[in-house]
Amino acid sequence: MDADLHVHTTASDGTMTPAEIVRMAVSRRLRAIALTDHDTVAGVAEAQEAARESGLLVIPGIEINTDYAEEEVHILGYWLDISNRELQAKLKELRQARAVRAEKMVARLAQIGVSVSLDRVLEIAGMGSLGRPHIAAALVEKGYALTPAEAFQKYLSRGTPGYVARYKIAMTEAVRIVTAAGGVPVLAHPGLLNRERLLRTDRRGLFPELLAAGIRGIEVYYPKHTPALVHHYLELCRRYQLIATGGSDYHGPGQKEAVELGAAGVEMEAVARLRQAAGG
Ligand code: AMP
Ligand code: FE
Ligand code: FE
Ligand code: ZN
Repeated sequence: MDADLHVHTTASDGTMTPAEIVRMAVSRRLRAIALTDHDTVAGVAEAQEAARESGLLVIPGIEINTDYAEEEVHILGYWLDISNRELQAKLKELRQARAVRAEKMVARLAQIGVSVSLDRVLEIAGMGSLGRPHIAAALVEKGYALTPAEAFQKYLSRGTPGYVARYKIAMTEAVRIVTAAGGVPVLAHPGLLNRERLLRTDRRGLFPELLAAGIRGIEVYYPKHTPALVHHYLELCRRYQLIATGGSDYHGPGQKEAVELGAAGVEMEAVARLRQAAGG
């Protein structure tokens, strides 16, 4: 396995800086990684700088959470032009919405007597794109939960007192934004979609809709995808001539499930196909 194409850093809700991720990738003998932070490309420059002369290829990427048929669909973008104006403006809008949401969530928690300060949450997030993991860290710090996972379970997941839905753009809009910025749009971890809910709500058909919008790949290889799912998505890639991508969704140590950098990914051949799809 050469390339891990799904990695988060402190630019969003990962716990390792872009430079630290690069060092880890080099020590694991990876040949390429893609930074796919939520709603931001702010970590890419630092990672590319850190990777100079190491032989590691750092692919500029992004992950955008979108709304489709009451389901949360994540769209990855690869090799986008990170200085693209429309992209920058759109991402800024999404990050501002994240800040408003965090403020609402902190206020909701206060209503049930769980007090974390918004300032502390912002401090934990640093320059990064704000997310629930930063609120989770603040809750753990104040002793409201023993682990971030517990904080999610008690206060931050859908259906708990602190939950506020994130502002989301339409799935096809995310595909369009990535494409307009010269990037290659890919459907992230389809195995995480709630298929039962989708069966009830999805009148148009996820794949026809994605294909019409211009999707170019499917994240086939993913830690939680069973061999049967991998087989299924490979079949879809063949049928629709899509690029099979893969990645670990690494968020740093002590985050989510204990997945490791490089736990899933692809060979350089897939990386070359992505680069070609991006036009160079
Ligand atoms: P947000 O983007 O603010 O909605 O937060 C979503 C992020 O929270 C995901 O990208 C994961 O990094 C993290 N996350 C989601 N569910 C959990 C969970 N149950 N335990 C720990 N982290 C989670
Ligand atoms: Fe995340
Ligand atoms: Fe995701
Ligand atoms: Zn991710």
